[in-house]
Order: sequence, then C-alpha cells, then structure tokens
Amino acid sequence: MSENEEKIEKGGISVQTEQIFPIIKKWLYSDKDIFVREIVSNACDACTKLRRLISLGEVQGIENDFRITVTLDKEEKTITVKDNGIGMTAEEIKRYIGQIALSGALEFIEKYENNGDNADSTSDIIGHFGLGFYSAFMVSSSVEVISRSFTGGPATRWVCSESGDYEMSPFDCDERGTSVIMHISEDEEDYLDKDKILGILKKYCSFMSVEIYFESGDEEEEEHVHEHEHHDGETCECEDHCAHEKKPINDTHPLWLKSPSECTDEEYKDFYSKVFSDFREPLFHIHINADYPLNFKGILYFPKLLHEYDNLEGEVKLYYNQVFVADNIKEVIPEYLIMLKGVLDCPELPLNVSRSYLQTNSYVSKLSAHIVKKVADKINSLCLNSREEYEKIWDDLKTFVEYGCLKDRKYYDRVKNSILFKLTDGKYETVDSYLESAKDKHENTVYYATDTVAQSRYISMLTSQDIKVVVFDKIIDTQFINVIESDRNGVKFLRVDADVASALKGEGDAQENKDLAELFKKVSKDEKLTVKFENLKNEKIPAIMTISEQSRRMEDMMKLYSMSGGHADNLFPTENTLVLNSLNPIIKKLEGDPSSEKTEMLAEQVYLLALLSQRQLSADEMEAFLDRSYDMLEKF
Ligand code: ADP
Repeated sequence: MSENEEKIEKGGISVQTEQIFPIIKKWLYSDKDIFVREIVSNACDACTKLRRLISLGEVQGIENDFRITVTLDKEEKTITVKDNGIGMTAEEIKRYIGQIALSGALEFIEKYENNGDNADSTSDIIGHFGLGFYSAFMVSSSVEVISRSFTGGPATRWVCSESGDYEMSPFDCDERGTSVIMHISEDEEDYLDKDKILGILKKYCSFMSVEIYFESGDEEEEEHVHEHEHHDGETCECEDHCAHEKKPINDTHPLWLKSPSECTDEEYKDFYSKVFSDFREPLFHIHINADYPLNFKGILYFPKLLHEYDNLEGEVKLYYNQVFVADNIKEVIPEYLIMLKGVLDCPELPLNVSRSYLQTNSYVSKLSAHIVKKVADKINSLCLNSREEYEKIWDDLKTFVEYGCLKDRKYYDRVKNSILFKLTDGKYETVDSYLESAKDKHENTVYYATDTVAQSRYISMLTSQDIKVVVFDKIIDTQFINVIESDRNGVKFLRVDADVASALKGEGDAQENKDLAELFKKVSKDEKLTVKFENLKNEKIPAIMTISEQSRRMEDMMKLYSMSGGHADNLFPTENTLVLNSLNPIIKKLEGDPSSEKTEMLAEQVYLLALLSQRQLSADEMEAFLDRSYDMLEKF
C-alpha cells in the first residue's frame, strides 16, 4: 500500500446528497451546457483571486501568467478544466466542494421539489447557493478534482461518483492550481464532440478575464489553429514555435471595458463584426460606461438592415463580469429597441438570472430606462452635431425611431426634435423647420406623399408652388403621423391628393355648373362621387381627384387590419371628390355644351385621366380607357 493510499479519506457529500444529486440532474436538464460556464468561471475566479493577492502584495514570487486549459480527451471520455489559480488545500476541498453545507439551498430545493419541473427556478438555486460546481454532475458519471493550494503543501485528489460518495487522498503533483476532470457519462457523450465543446466555450467564455486554451489532442485541429495564427501569410515549419504561439479562445480585455475615449472607430467596427458575424457596418454605436448610480458597461450597435422586411431581431448579449449569461433579455431591452445588437456587462445582476427575477427587479427596470435614455441621447447628439452623417443614416434609422415613438411616449418626447422629414427633392428637414417654412402658405399643414411615382402629378402641383412634400412611404409612417398630430396641437397631415391646397387656387370663386356635375357623376359610375369646381392656377389641368384624408386613413387602417387576419366591413367608404378646373379650356368647352354626345365622351376621358393621375387603374378601367382612347383618336 502506498503512502497516499493509506491516507485515503472517505466520505459522502454532506447534507442529504441523495436528494440533491437527482434534483440537479433533473432540473438542469434543459440547460446542461452551463456546466462549462460554471466550471470554467470557477477556474477564472481562482486565478483572479490569486492575481488579486499578488497585486495587494500579499504573496510574492508568483508570476502573473494565469491560464486555463480545457482539454477534451475522447479516448478517456473526459473533459478537464485546469487552472493555475489559487488552488485548494485538502481542508478547503472538503469545505468548499465536499459539503453542500447550505441549509438555505436545501430548503429551497425541498420547496421546489414539490413544484415539478421548473428550469427557471433551478438556475436560481445553482447561482444563489453556490452549487455551480455540481453542475458538472449533469454530464458526468464521476468528477475528479486535483488541487494544490498556492500556499504549498501536498496536492489532493478528490473523486466523487454520481451518487455523491467521494474519496479524497493526497496526490503527487507539484503544480499549483486545480484540475477538474469530468468523466462524461454514457448518455452525455455528445459533449465529447470537439465542435460542441468549442461552441459552448465560445458562447459563454469568449470574454473571460483569464486566457483560456482549448486542446482536443486532435492533430488536424491543432494544424488548423496554426494556419489561423499566421495571418501574415507565411507558413511556419517549426512545430515548437507553433505550439508556443497557440492562441487563447477568448479576449481577456473586451472593448467594453476600455474607456470610450481610448477606443477607435476601427475597434468598434471590428468588435461588432467579430461578435455578431455581421460584415455590414453598423449605423452607429453607443458605448455605455456607467458606474453610478447604475454600475454597468456595454456597447450597443444600431445595425444596418437591408430592407424593411429584414430580420428585425437584434442580439444583445448579457454578461456578468465578462461571463456570458444570456441573449436577448427582453426585460433589459425594450421591445422597440429589439434590433439593437451589443453587449452589456452587469456585475450587479446575479450570474444566473431567471425571467421572473428580471421582471420584478428594480435594478433591471432602471437599467432598461438608462439604455433608452442613452439611445435617445445618441440620436439627439448625432442630429445636433453631425447632421450630415445623421441624414445619411436617417432612412435606415427612421423606422425604428418611429416605432419606438409609437410604443413609448417618453421615448418620443426625448427624440422628437431629432425626427427628420425626408422631402421629395431628397432633402431632409426637422419637423420644426418644416412647419416654420410652411407658415406663410399652409400654416400647420404637412403635405405628404405615400408613393412618389403614382402621386407625382399632385407632388409637382405642390412643389411648383414652393410647397414642400414629405415622403412617407412605409406602412409605419402613416401610423406615426398620429403621434405628431396628437403632440402638436393644430398640426394636420394631408396626403397630397387629400385636398386642393389653397396655394393652388387662383383668384375668385369658380362657378358651379350643375348639369356638368351630373354628367361627370354619370360617366364616373360612382354614385357617391362629389363633383366640385375650382379655379386652379395651373390651367393645363382639367380635373383632379381628391380623397378625404379621414376616410382614406380609415380605409388604410381597415386594410392593415384585414392584412393581419382581421375581418372588417369598411364602415367609412372613401370619399372621392372630382375637382373640375373652371379655368381649363376643355372644361370651359364642356360647360358650353353639356348635353352633346361628344361632351359625354370627353367628360369620361377627363374623368379617367384624373383617376389615372391619382392611382393605378384596375384592369377593367385600363381596358376601357385604352379602347375609348383609340375611338377618340379615330375621330380626330
Ligand atoms: P461558487 O463558485 O458559487 O462559490 P461552486 O460550487 O461553483 O460555488 O464552488 C464552490 C467553491 O469551491 C468556490 O467558492 C471555491 O472556493 C471553490 N472552488 C471551486 N472551483 C475552484 C477552483 N477551480 N479553484 C479553486 N477553488 C475552487
């Protein structure tokens, strides 16, 4: 019997382990991957603790060369996490690892044992009661810990089976630190896949503060890593040199920890493309470095989307002291900022956050409010200080800003002075400056076009009178109109075809001609059509169609509603008006002879031309229009 074997100490993990082990296994079923995070972050903590003692001058003679190695051994069916951190003495292993000596945890477990499966609450237990180490048992049939404390003394080997029984003995090893060797159980052999483990490591550990190296003993993989290292294009023939240069899988100094004044634009862009594998440049970024009253850091990016229907869902990764916690936490990022991509490091949140915890946590709601404020501040500062650049990104930004304003009135109040109107001539104006310039000709009225091609006739009528027309061609734009109208008392939005602007009317009142009005009604086959006479300055135009803003908005809403699966009868039929221009020679001619056959033919043509300049004709209307045009040409 060797000296070490004599000293074997046997025990069982104290406090009803037979209760705890099955529960750990069962409850964490949905998220087994986190064992990687737990074991590697323990290793990272162990290094950080020793690093701290060195910096405090409490220990001397130890080099600051901390590293963690994760080794996958397919033959042995083990995953080993090795660190050269603070290590543990035999006593410490017994105390920290060998005892789940937390009555609170036990109570908690007892309480939830009766509540059935609830992965959410389990995460709470694991985090709150320091059971992280035990997550290794979710995937292992036995776990070995070999550790030697930085204080010297012999190393200790601790082995624990899945039943919770352990053995502890001195171990022959001079190296400082801890190795956790997980013997992967038969039904979890998926975890012996190199790509799987590497994927999990990258997800959870990419920004941990101690260098992490991955080894799989897979020659091909090693070569692959080397090829990557030589980005200068040179192939290296020296194996040792290559091995020496092996790169950690993580970035120990993520950009968000740096002070914003020290980061370059290039760094922000690189970070974005690396973390989100998105090679389009983001529109802009926000680097948050708050320490009071909220302590958190992060970088948020506004991504560039290809088109309106691009995937709107961004990705905000939440970290706890550089350890990845979760993606897309709705409670932290309001829904209307869902397209943001970025990282947030919140050391004040527990490592294991559950949805229910986040929903009720006041820190989280403050965090969320702070993010909204920062986004609004950034938008305002771009508008105010970098107007040219801001105009360039406005088309991409607009939908999100408008959506946010629709969802959150406070957000609207914050950004309302940075909302731009894009005009049909391609220029941009703030709402205030548009209204200011409208003062003389159309006070408080904003003219807009939803389709610059189909509505070009109306647009040119207005722009020829120096009236600016705003382009509102997205579905959301028309909803957004309501936000501005309700905020700015008296301001009214009119689509270009809603009414005849007074600026387009000439001197004096036009004379009504009842017979002609009747004739037009007849040829339009639209009983509800209103026919009006106006003196339009532009004498060339015989007639235009207008459609009441209110009734059209109603109709648009109904269309939207039925598009989203609803079914509704339109209780507000569109109110179309045909405006005849009394100054136009054709109309004058018709007025002179309202009852001849030729007049009817002309009237119908004038009506169809007015329709044509308002909207696309239906197939039938188009057929009829073409046929009658040929007839007329024949008679010419
Ligand atoms: P927590 O990390 O939340 O305290 P764990 O169950 O993960 O809970 O770990 C329990 C304790 O075991 C740790 O607090 C630490 O003292 C010790 N420990 C775990 N892993 C290591 C390690 N790699 N090196 C040194 N000590 C460790």
